[in-house]
Amino acid sequence: MRLFHGGIKLTEGNELKERAAEEHIHTLAASTLYLPLFVQKRSLCACVAAGDRVDIGTRVAEDPSGFLPPVHSGVSGTVRAIDTFHPCAEGGEVPTVVIDNDGQGRACLLPPLAETAAPDAIVERMYEAGLVGMGGAGYPTHRKYRDLTAEWLLINACECEPYLAADASLSRHFLTLIVEGVHRMATAARVAPAHIRLCTESAQTAAALKQSGLSVVTLTKRYPQGSERQLVEAVLDKRLPDGVLPTQAGVVVSNVGTAAAMGDAARGLALTHRIVTVSGYVKQPRNLLVPIGTPFADIAAAVQPKTADRRVRYIAGGPMTGRRLTTLKAGLPKTCGGLTLLPSHSFSATPCIRCGACVRACPSSLLPFLIEQAVLQGEKERYRPLRTTACLSCGCCSFVCPAKRPLAARITAAKRELKEGIQ
Ligand code: SF4
Ligand code: SF4
Repeated sequence: MRLFHGGIKLTEGNELKERAAEEHIHTLAASTLYLPLFVQKRSLCACVAAGDRVDIGTRVAEDPSGFLPPVHSGVSGTVRAIDTFHPCAEGGEVPTVVIDNDGQGRACLLPPLAETAAPDAIVERMYEAGLVGMGGAGYPTHRKYRDLTAEWLLINACECEPYLAADASLSRHFLTLIVEGVHRMATAARVAPAHIRLCTESAQTAAALKQSGLSVVTLTKRYPQGSERQLVEAVLDKRLPDGVLPTQAGVVVSNVGTAAAMGDAARGLALTHRIVTVSGYVKQPRNLLVPIGTPFADIAAAVQPKTADRRVRYIAGGPMTGRRLTTLKAGLPKTCGGLTLLPSHSFSATPCIRCGACVRACPSSLLPFLIEQAVLQGEKERYRPLRTTACLSCGCCSFVCPAKRPLAARITAAKRELKEGIQ
């Protein structure tokens, strides 16, 4: 049995997840896109001006530092504004490029990538096409693959969050694209075909992926199996020390959605759309192919809540690691593969009873209750000895805590403080 240390078995949302995976992919046409000029704490520069006409694939914003790849329009139309402050999914209001869709669907393409393209040319295409990790972290793909020589390439189709089935749906409907992307990524990372593994927890997704002729690993269903470090541990039996990235251990991990985006990029299409599962407290879950920048309100309108008489919370992503949206006006980011509706509820935390459940569940072998105690007592000097930066923000500790303590949120905030050097 292939397992990683810690983690939890989730049952919530499994039936809806299966139903969503079986669903067709519906196309959603947005009338207006909202593309923020502040992403992952970096200011982007607009490459267009108000009044400009754009096509699908037109570059509309770029990071002057070159760290993040460019952002492209997912519709053809006219730029209404480039500096309007608008809510964004990362929180707050930021300058935003607003594009009105003219419904004509004009597209501009990059030249197709040569079959024999060398690693440098593939990495350059990753940048030009705007690729970032589609599994949630959003790390720029060109930076991950630049000057890389790895032994293993793991394609992550685990999607262990409850309810979400965007990767399952992608694997079943866009296999050719995924395979093209995987081969390009393997070339870029100089990985031999025999060292590529497609990884999933779902027997149905495994059956679809096996048609690719590539090696498929079916893993035990356990959360957070989709986390890079847990995937490396389960598939290759390598436990990475704190601070060591998979690439530093000879393993490059990419999400199956990123592989499909690479397949598109090789054909000349920039990353302008993605599949989103809308699920949770809904009558029928749906998978939608959506232009990036589509307001969450348009995505939410594609489903009906189970009953109209209950208040719902909207989560960008899944219930474990997603972010609660305070407004549905924000545009869909590249990294978000789900919109989960959950009934509103309130509960209060009670004192820790030292049961140890959070310790047993933590896949990073941390002591969550002690880190939370350090946070509450303002003892920042204890963050490092307690290995706070090794937290994956997976939410397992909060999920199992019988006292309903918001451990993951507090530990994540402490980790952010340490990383930003506030201490
Ligand atoms: S959120 Fe952090 S502390 Fe909590 S279980 Fe996950 S890795 Fe461990
Ligand atoms: S799971 Fe909750 S109650 Fe149990 S030790 Fe951890 S913080 Fe305390």
